[in-house]
Amino acid sequence: KTAISITDLNYSYPDGTKALDNVNIEIEQGEKIVIMGPNGAGKTTLFLHLNGVIRAEQDNVKIFGNNIGSMKTEDRIREVGVVFAEPDDQLFMSTVYDDIAFGPLNMGLSEEEVDRRVKKALATVGLEGFEDKVPHHMSFGQKKKAALAAVLSMEPRVLVLDEPTANLDPKSRADLIRVINDLNKNHGITTVIAMHDINALSELADRVYVLNRSIVAEGPTRDIFSDHV
Ligand code: ADP
Ligand code: ADP
Repeated sequence: KTAISITDLNYSYPDGTKALDNVNIEIEQGEKIVIMGPNGAGKTTLFLHLNGVIRAEQDNVKIFGNNIGSMKTEDRIREVGVVFAEPDDQLFMSTVYDDIAFGPLNMGLSEEEVDRRVKKALATVGLEGFEDKVPHHMSFGQKKKAALAAVLSMEPRVLVLDEPTANLDPKSRADLIRVINDLNKNHGITTVIAMHDINALSELADRVYVLNRSIVAEGPTRDIFSDHV
C-alpha cells in the first residue's frame, strides 16, 4: 500500500525562488526513508506540503491515496505527523502536558483519551514524569523528545522528521534513533526523515532519496552510501 505519493511536484516561492523542480517520491507503508540534501535543497518546502501549509495546485501530493491539499486538518493529522528541526517552533504551551494534549484535544477526543495518549507518548519518548515541566526550560534533547511526543499523541500512520538527530548530545541522539526505529519496526509507522547526518543513515533508512531541488538519486541505503561517501 502506498503511504506517500508525490508526483511531478513543482514549487516556487512568491519571490520566484524555485524550491522544488519536478519532484517524484513514492513511499510504501512501513518503509523507512531518508531524504538527504544540502541546505536549501528544498527539504523544508517538501515537508510544508506534507503538513498542508503549502497546498499544491493539483493532486501532486497524496497520502494513502488522498490529496493532502484538500484534506481537512483533522483528517490529515491522523495520517501524517511532521516534526520540525527546531522544537521551539512546536512547543508553545506552558507545560509539556498541554503541548502533547493540544493536538488530541483539537481532534475532539475525550479528556480520558487525551490523558491516555499523553502518557503513552511520554513513555514512548522516555519523558515519563515531565508532564508539568516548562518546555522553555528544558534541554534541547528533552525538547526534541517533547516535540516528537506532541506529534505521536495524534497517532499518525506516517511520521515525518526534519533533522531529528542534529545538534544532540550522544545520549539523546541514540535515544531518538531508538525511539524512531521502534515506532517503525514494532508499530508499523512509516518514517520519512530529512537529515545531513550521514553517520545515522544506515540506522534510519532502508532507502534514500537525494534531493537538490529535484531528486538527483534514489535507491537502497547501501547503494547511495557507497556512491556518496
Ligand atoms: P532545506 O530545508 O533543504 O534547507 P528549503 O526548503 O528551506 O531547503 O529551501 C529551498 C529553497 O527555497 C532555498 O533556496 C531557500 O532559500 C528558498 N526559500 C525557503 N523559504 C523561502 C521563502 N519563504 N521565500 C523565498 N525563498 C524561500
Ligand atoms: P495502539 O494505539 O492500540 O497501541 P499501535 O501501537 O499499533 O496501536 O499504534 C496505533 C497508532 O498509535 C499508530 O498509528 C501510531 O501513530 C501511534 N503509536 C504507536 N505506538 C505509539 C507509542 N508508543 N506512543 C505514541 N503513539 C504511538
